[in-house]
Amino acid sequence: MSKTFKQWQELAKGLKIEARAFIDGEFTGASGGKTFPCISPIDGKHLADVACAQSADVDRAVRAARSSFNSGIWSQISPRERKAVLLRWARLLEQHNDELAALETIDAGKTITDTSTGDIPCVVYCLEWFAEAIDKVHGEVIGTDPAFLGMVTREPIGVVAAVVPWNYPLLMAAWKFAPALAAGNSVIIKPSEKSPLSILKAAQLASEAGIPKGVFQVLPGFGDVGAQLSLHKDVDCLAFTGSGPTGRKIMHNAADSNLKRVWLELGGKSPNIILKDCPDLERAANSSAYGIFANAGQVCSAGSRVLVQRDVLPEFLQHLKTAAGNFKAGNPLDPDTTVGALVDEIQLKRVLSYIDKGNAEASLVLGGVRSAPEAGGFYVEPTIFSCADAKPAIACEEIFGPVLSVIPFDTNEEAIAMANASEYGLAAAVWSADIATAHEMGRALRAGTVWINCYDEIVDMNFPFGGYKQSGNGRDNSLHALEKYTEIKSTIMRLR
Ligand code: NAP
Ligand code: MG
Repeated sequence: MSKTFKQWQELAKGLKIEARAFIDGEFTGASGGKTFPCISPIDGKHLADVACAQSADVDRAVRAARSSFNSGIWSQISPRERKAVLLRWARLLEQHNDELAALETIDAGKTITDTSTGDIPCVVYCLEWFAEAIDKVHGEVIGTDPAFLGMVTREPIGVVAAVVPWNYPLLMAAWKFAPALAAGNSVIIKPSEKSPLSILKAAQLASEAGIPKGVFQVLPGFGDVGAQLSLHKDVDCLAFTGSGPTGRKIMHNAADSNLKRVWLELGGKSPNIILKDCPDLERAANSSAYGIFANAGQVCSAGSRVLVQRDVLPEFLQHLKTAAGNFKAGNPLDPDTTVGALVDEIQLKRVLSYIDKGNAEASLVLGGVRSAPEAGGFYVEPTIFSCADAKPAIACEEIFGPVLSVIPFDTNEEAIAMANASEYGLAAAVWSADIATAHEMGRALRAGTVWINCYDEIVDMNFPFGGYKQSGNGRDNSLHALEKYTEIKSTIMRLR
């Protein structure tokens, strides 16, 4: 039975918040007792004082990770044994679904419908998927001269640090820790300072599930913790999701230290192309609205640019306005709310400043205002701008908020050129009833994911996720993700 607004509010009020770091198998304060305040974007109220990891804590966690890795307690057990533990953890996360969902909602402002039926079930699915996969991934035997035996095997890399953002706090962490742990690594998670709570609860369940101490750790803190991890000589791999500028710093730090493997999942300005022969304009409009207003637009693969063939622009805009009407900003603990709060005041200001730029460079079709400021939270109404061309800042730069730019085009070639004229290449979509055109355009789009006649509709771990160009490198999800967290060893043995 789904809960009512009141029931979710009660659950949220009764939550026992764990706010300490999780290092070497136990919850602990940061050295010097340093904390930072965790603020709810729902109403600006103080939720907890969270341990703020210091460099001594980073060193301690890396030492514990290294020692657990070297001990073989996790890295050297059979994949089947790791699978059993990870599946136990998945069951515990599932049993605590509502508690984790409520934590994410009060911490990050995401709607309770999304966290309880999307984020947390997807975390469970991700963990189960990699747990189930890992005892089915085999090495290779190479055809050699019969005097030899040649083998190619995969081994865990060692100490993996993951620095993750706030838009899907636990899910973005799971996309890293599930494959990394399944492969036998010891993992340190650095959550965003804006959303540290759900991963700390998950750590408690990890230890209940039997993940050995030092194998999974959480270091809440600011960007300096991520910077130290990326500079640390005893971290073998740094997996990151977040902004381009931070990704760049991490690469520099890896270069300046031990050339650790760096995997980046950065932002996007994903184009959603509506051709005049789109099979169903109303559906395309609904899908486009979902593609930008879900999670209040704080999605790296958000369809933040809709390119529409001029012939169908007026009709499409009409449908889009109606579709956008289904999205209203409000208290995210209310199951009827479709657009939650932005994560914090910084993000609110960033989005509002883009809306100011939009008002100067394009025409406002819908929204464009902060809503419910009296609640003390950070809400922005779904906003649509109609642009004359692709030049305005709102049509080129990642906003990470519920702001959509609609841009007209005349020919398919022009649409492809506009779509690809971006430093990003994370996702793209094309809508056409002509299968050949749709395919050709899909091939021409320089993006890691291409949707045809849909936008971000299915959740399936079998599809790799990641970007071309400055949207990053490597892929999360699918067996390809294991490439990030394993070394490949060639063994050549002379038999006689
Ligand atoms: P960000 O600075 O890239 O933060 C992401 C993570 O990196 C956080 O855990 C952050 O810690 C950490 N970090 C910050 N500085 C670091 C450093 N020098 N070395 C290592 N780690 C560091 O992103 P943000 O400031 O939260 O958001 C800014 C913009 O980034 C957004 O408006 C959006 O455009 C983009 N973004 C993209 C994604 C995505 O999914 N691709 C996700 C989030 C944000 P603290 O938060 O504790 O400082
Ligand atoms: Mg928060």
